[in-house]
Amino acid sequence: RTEITTPLSLVEDDQVEPSLRPQRLAEFIGQRKVCDALQISVEAALARREPLDHVLFHGPPGLGKTTLASLMARELGVNIKTTSGPVLEKPADLVGILTNQREGDILFIDEIHRLRPIIEEFLYPAMEDWQVDIRLSDGPRAQTMTMKIERFTLIGATTRFGLLTAPMRARFGIVQRLHFYPPDELATIVRRSADILGVDTTQEGAEELARRARGTPRVANRLLRRVRDYAEVRADGRIDRDVARAALELLDVDEYGLDEMDTRVLRALIETFEGGPVGLNSLAVALGEDTATLEEVYEPFLIQEGYLMRTPRGRAATAKAYRRLGFTPPPGASD
Ligand code: ATP
Repeated sequence: RTEITTPLSLVEDDQVEPSLRPQRLAEFIGQRKVCDALQISVEAALARREPLDHVLFHGPPGLGKTTLASLMARELGVNIKTTSGPVLEKPADLVGILTNQREGDILFIDEIHRLRPIIEEFLYPAMEDWQVDIRLSDGPRAQTMTMKIERFTLIGATTRFGLLTAPMRARFGIVQRLHFYPPDELATIVRRSADILGVDTTQEGAEELARRARGTPRVANRLLRRVRDYAEVRADGRIDRDVARAALELLDVDEYGLDEMDTRVLRALIETFEGGPVGLNSLAVALGEDTATLEEVYEPFLIQEGYLMRTPRGRAATAKAYRRLGFTPPPGASD
């Protein structure tokens, strides 16, 4: 079951997302502090004619980590190769990329917290001393050969900063956390995407979509595409506030941006666990959802919006969550 407001990438997004990606850092909307810091690092690296320090982006899915990595490559005028933690099985999978890179090129590793230990070990000397150890044969007495590589920049992205090993974390000179976008920035993103897709949208229409996009550009862009369909079929093609509202209602998107799964999480907390605190595992079992998805995809937004708290003893529902679901908060519930 997929939800229209999931921050995870859906097949329908894959076709359109590339065309909606900002092409320059200056076109990237929001995350001002992150962008300013990156701009300075890029200019400094260019002035010194040195590769950019290794960069780590972390934060919830769909906020623009991949986009920023490709913008870094653009700004630096270098090539970028993209891979991800789970697809790298053995060091040999990286040897080709690393030995063919030119000085300053970028290797982007998405989901870097899912690298296998053997790949991490292989990457450390590459990141630090610009060399890789290549095994020439298998077995206990296998010979290895050390090979020099060009100085490159590794950009890692993760939704789970806490799962990154300490030695890996320590090797990144630049660490940036991406935050959920406020509605006004999301509205600007919606208007920009609408321009690119040739959709007529009013400011109020864009704001309506932005408010319900869970702070996430990927969701905002997806809502825009779905609402466009509605506008074309049921109205004159223009997305104004009324059209946006009617379409979002039809799509079952809640006016606070909560989706069905968010509501189930809060309901389980309140009805099954008396508001908590309850351990993540028990909550996941009650929902029939895996702990990682719960922690990476649903919790960050619920926490940011003040519906859920992480406490040392587990997850707890806030008074706001009780009220949102039509319950009276118990005396002990915090806001
Ligand atoms: P994941 O980690 O799940 O792959 P991500 O954080 O790498 O997600 P991206 O793929 O970079 O997310 O972004 C998702 C979509 O949102 C893309 O289409 C991208 O163009 C758009 N987007 C993200 N951030 C911005 C922004 N600041 N301005 C305009 N568009 C953005």
